[in-house]
Amino acid sequence: MKTPLPDYLAHVIDACDTDNRGNLADYIPELANANPNRLALALSTVDGEIYSVGDDEIEFTIQSMSKPFTYAYVLQQLGIDAVLEKVGVEPSGEAFNEISLGKDRRPKNPMINSGAITTHSLIPPKEDVSGAEILRQFMSELAGRELQFDDAVYESEVKTAYRNLSIGYMLRTVGILESNPVDIVNGYIRQCAILVTVKDLVRMGSVFANGGVDPKTGKRLLNRAVVRQVLSVMMSCGMYDAAGDWLTTVGIPAKSGVAGGILGVLPGQVSIAAFSPRLDEHGNSVRGIDIMERLSRDMGLHLMEGTPSAQTIVQSHYRTGKDASLSVYVLRGVLKFTEAEMLLRTLQCEPDDNSSIVIDLSQISLIHDVGKRMFLEGIDRLIDDGHSLLLVDPEQRLDNARTHKDRVLHVYQNLEDLIEKHKEL
Ligand code: GLN
Repeated sequence: MKTPLPDYLAHVIDACDTDNRGNLADYIPELANANPNRLALALSTVDGEIYSVGDDEIEFTIQSMSKPFTYAYVLQQLGIDAVLEKVGVEPSGEAFNEISLGKDRRPKNPMINSGAITTHSLIPPKEDVSGAEILRQFMSELAGRELQFDDAVYESEVKTAYRNLSIGYMLRTVGILESNPVDIVNGYIRQCAILVTVKDLVRMGSVFANGGVDPKTGKRLLNRAVVRQVLSVMMSCGMYDAAGDWLTTVGIPAKSGVAGGILGVLPGQVSIAAFSPRLDEHGNSVRGIDIMERLSRDMGLHLMEGTPSAQTIVQSHYRTGKDASLSVYVLRGVLKFTEAEMLLRTLQCEPDDNSSIVIDLSQISLIHDVGKRMFLEGIDRLIDDGHSLLLVDPEQRLDNARTHKDRVLHVYQNLEDLIEKHKEL
């Protein structure tokens, strides 16, 4: 059997192939030379499997899709509060290159140019390494390969960067930029000229989807709180003055770039990237939007559809052992708030009969911090009621349960052994 996913993705781009609406971004002269017919789509699962179709080996400049990565980098380096002092998080409802500031004189958000030029200026200096080069190295680590700059696109944009320079001077005037605005704007333009393919983009996006851990290497590259901040801002501001339309129709945190790329990241699930250079009036890829709308609809990826929590946290419950003195709970799935609440509600029905309670966690796929805290609290209360607690926790994910309130719990490798040992109890 071959998974049908690549066929499905190929079908999606075929369906969009004949749409010729939109125009190339000609305000950057070099981008006007792009082949307008290019079309590519890639998807990475949260565990790092990448599927791609169409022109998936073609490199194009990352442009504004660099903004969330720069934002992530400075948040990670400086902390969220320090960055918030310089750049807000309010959707602007304005074009990406609007010459504007919020009422508090901060750029409204880091996804429009004024905010992105500011975040570029916040990159902590390293001796002899430019901000753009620091970002190229950071993005290369996320992409799992050495990314390069497109010097021709950079030169061409720098020569005609009147609007971004106006933004830079405005930011310098109000003290948001603290050094030479020309250097900072040039650095920002260079960060936009990093070359990527759709496969690079989804690999980079998979680190966001996976809460900051690179699913290919298992290495944590970003804090969870940083990723949450970046994705929130992508959701509310990533598509500029089309953000509301995007939220209702696609519902995936995303960022577009004027070379024709769109990157979408659905936390805990997938990252998706589309590439097609013709743009609509907001500067977003026409066919890219179509592709994202189709994927969101077909695969139920809209954030607000909120998958109902698995209502099966307790997969089975039975009594066994001598005089049915062991009350066994086998758990399955993800232990977050909703599931922990269900579990505690079920455990609440245990009679106060000093029986032994066995909880098998071996089939739990993920224990969220809140799930763990609630679970441990429940265990404490069961012990207070006079029960003994026996846990099957082969991966020792509740390791500190043993010392919780200084109570020794019995932890076993597997359920069968445990039941065998307690047969006579
Ligand atoms: N380098 C481009 C600019 O600043 C990026 C804009 C974009 O991709 N929306 O104009």
